[in-house]
Amino acid sequence: MVLCVARTFLLPLKVGKRHDRPATYSAKLRNFFGNALILLYFYIMLFAEVLLPVPIMGSFTYRVPAEMEGSLQVGHRVIVPFGRRKSYTGIVSALTPIEPKGYEIKEIAMKIDDSPIVRHPQMKFWQWVADYYLCTPGDVMKAAVPAGLKIESETFISPVAGWEEDAADRLSVRETALLEALLATGERKVTLDSLGRKTGLTTVGPAVNSLLARGAVMISENLVERYHPRTEVYVSIAADRGDSARLHEMFDSVRKGSRQEAALLTLIELSGFMRQALEKPLEVTRSRLMERSGVTSTVVAAMAKKGLVNIYKKVVGRFSFTGTVTGELPALTDAQKEALDAIHKSWLSNAITLLHGVTSSGKTELYIHLIDYVMRGGRQVLFLVPEIALTTQLTGRLQRVFGDKVVVYHSKFSDSERVETWRRLLASGEPCVVIGARSSVFLPFSSIGLVIVDEEHEPAYKQQDPAPRYNARDAAIVLASMHGAKTLLGSATPSVETYWKALSGRFGLVELTQRFGGMSLPRMELVDMTEARKKGEVTGIFSSVTRRTIDAALAEGHQAIIFLNRRGYAPVARCKQCGYVPKCDKCDVSLTYHRRFDKLVCHYCGTPYPVPEVCPACKEPGIEVLGYGTERIEEEVEGFFPDATMLRMDLDTTRSKDGYDRIIDDFSAGKAQILVGTQMVTKGLDFANVTVVSVANADAIINFPDFRSSERAFNMLEQVAGRAGRKNGEGLVTVQTYSPSHPLFRFLLAHDYRGFYGHEIAERERYCYPPFVRVIYIYIKHKDPSRVGVVAGELASRLRQLLGNRVNGPEEPSVARVQTFYIRRIMLKIETNASISKVKDLLRNVRIELTNSGKLSGATVYCDVDPV
Ligand code: ADP
Ligand code: ZN
Repeated sequence: MVLCVARTFLLPLKVGKRHDRPATYSAKLRNFFGNALILLYFYIMLFAEVLLPVPIMGSFTYRVPAEMEGSLQVGHRVIVPFGRRKSYTGIVSALTPIEPKGYEIKEIAMKIDDSPIVRHPQMKFWQWVADYYLCTPGDVMKAAVPAGLKIESETFISPVAGWEEDAADRLSVRETALLEALLATGERKVTLDSLGRKTGLTTVGPAVNSLLARGAVMISENLVERYHPRTEVYVSIAADRGDSARLHEMFDSVRKGSRQEAALLTLIELSGFMRQALEKPLEVTRSRLMERSGVTSTVVAAMAKKGLVNIYKKVVGRFSFTGTVTGELPALTDAQKEALDAIHKSWLSNAITLLHGVTSSGKTELYIHLIDYVMRGGRQVLFLVPEIALTTQLTGRLQRVFGDKVVVYHSKFSDSERVETWRRLLASGEPCVVIGARSSVFLPFSSIGLVIVDEEHEPAYKQQDPAPRYNARDAAIVLASMHGAKTLLGSATPSVETYWKALSGRFGLVELTQRFGGMSLPRMELVDMTEARKKGEVTGIFSSVTRRTIDAALAEGHQAIIFLNRRGYAPVARCKQCGYVPKCDKCDVSLTYHRRFDKLVCHYCGTPYPVPEVCPACKEPGIEVLGYGTERIEEEVEGFFPDATMLRMDLDTTRSKDGYDRIIDDFSAGKAQILVGTQMVTKGLDFANVTVVSVANADAIINFPDFRSSERAFNMLEQVAGRAGRKNGEGLVTVQTYSPSHPLFRFLLAHDYRGFYGHEIAERERYCYPPFVRVIYIYIKHKDPSRVGVVAGELASRLRQLLGNRVNGPEEPSVARVQTFYIRRIMLKIETNASISKVKDLLRNVRIELTNSGKLSGATVYCDVDPV
């Protein structure tokens, strides 16, 4: 409908030629320097474009000072003056001989690193992300680089305590002046500019630079101090191995039966000091020595003082793996072998392949074979997972095969750890496999051979807020193509878009239809809650069917998972007298009751509120809480299954770094029989002993007012079902719902992905949704409830003039106010064969136009490309 009308109109849009830029570029060049000078292009890079962490479009160009010419490279961090008296740290994104016109050019103040911290291809990738997702490269930089390597705010210089001038290498007059000025201020942090003013020197950059190189000053503690490499203390015997006389002497000097003697003996044993077969003694950490010999660090220190042992420190990697590496690849079943061959075959003609394998079919085992294959070829592998919780099991499985070639990267790691990973990848192009959440697409890979996107259908791959609002799956595909690498998308329930591309031949398609070990897919049982309630079979949230199945599983020594996609105790509070519902002051959201803190909490902005004693509306003490969250289920489970131990996995129980690991390890080890959780328990986890999965409230999943809700619900339910019956006994899944006739369930009960896909793709086509169009949302946020509508209306009508009925809205989203901002949304539906870059240019221009005419004033406007 919309499509057909729009198509003729759109043709003029399809001009977007990518090549017009370089052409004008070289034409300009010729004008400036004449043909002959073009040869010098590569030598005279007098200007640098610098990415800065500021929310402003456009790039910032600075002059390269003479002393940096030839040494400054793309990817170097530099400090530059910005605005009237600020300095920022940014990253050089391009070098050029052309002087930009129209404004005064400032000079780069200093270069921070000896070598670039970002590789050239990475920059290209950042630029793609910025272009495609309609944000600034500065936004991308902020998301890409670990905090320890960047500066969010102003850059400061501070003196390094205890630094002393080297007698052989004196400071220059300028350097001395600067250092003295710095020390004289007594402040910890001084900006470059104020240093200039204090010393009366016009350019302080070069001198500060050399002070920096000598270790006399440091830049903004955020930058340098934040990164602490991890060190470990070691102890060794203070004697040569051949020198037995010395060894005798040592034993003579300690009392018989003393702790020092015990420590000495243990150290000899642990280090293999007497084992001639060893080329040199093994290194022993102080903590291991203390543990094994039962002595304290004071004893070790005393021994060092006596000259019996040496104590030394060493920087160690945070990821050195200490378990056993078997190096053995899993033996594959015939079906898996066939699939592996099919993938290799697909690689001959496809850059991207979809592995559609039912839950527990052994996709991960195939990945392991492919990773091995690619690493043997000397290249790197990026293994994306949608959820940090999934890295735990996966890391263990991969480390047993690949040892410390496995690198893990996600936001639960400390900044130092992330910097360490970054530097490790930067320093070497060694083959390795990086397991990571979405931000790992930004790591400094040198040569990727394969990108695996596991659970490719997962909405968690899309970053919602802040910009860049990128989908790591799609970005990873682009990243792979920039490296000339293959992409393997894996899922038991591929996204509708991906499956459509696979069926239409744009992606290769490989299928695994059998579970490993001949296990069958779990039996699904719908529980009609209206019916059950009528029969009096519902107590609390559980129907008697659900309770019986869980009981039966526990009786056989098996485990159960209960899934509910709401955390907290109860999702709604309400006054039973007048029906008043407490809402967040800043968001248009009702509050969730959390029993642990006895507070009402906004799940959009996190603000906690006390539970009102009396209703603010009718002044009666009538506030009660309704509905179920994971916290409340936990309580009911305790009542129903008093003999079972239970674990809960949701955002609230996994805030600490090891939160996931602990829960997953304990549940795997059988320390608990029931796991209650939100979305986190639906994905890719592999627990051998789980036979029953219960979906407590399917209605909370299927009733969403957006075009992806069916897909999301099908995927989520099929995935959570997939946790049941993976190894021991047939799985059973009970799904509690008040709408058992929903079309989704027909496909779900039969595990009929194809059927579901057929139904869904027809709907998408009929109503003009992806993959038949591209969707871009434009969000307008404003603090003023009346202005927000006006601004959104202006923007929509201007866009309509240019894009016709591709523009829908503005509408109020279901949550129309968040963190004090009122929100409107415009939806663009763009035909897939139209030039998307043309549309984006147009969007940018309209925005500039309306900003300049003041029509957007006070409003925040941003785009969400390919929303999920
Ligand atoms: P998926 O990733 O498709 O859900 P997994 O790779 O996790 O499936 O496999 C499911 C379970 O079956 C895992 O515990 C795995 O170790 C086991 N498994 C799969 N294939 C094999 C194999 N070829 N040999 C031994 N165990 C296997
Ligand atoms: Zn709020």
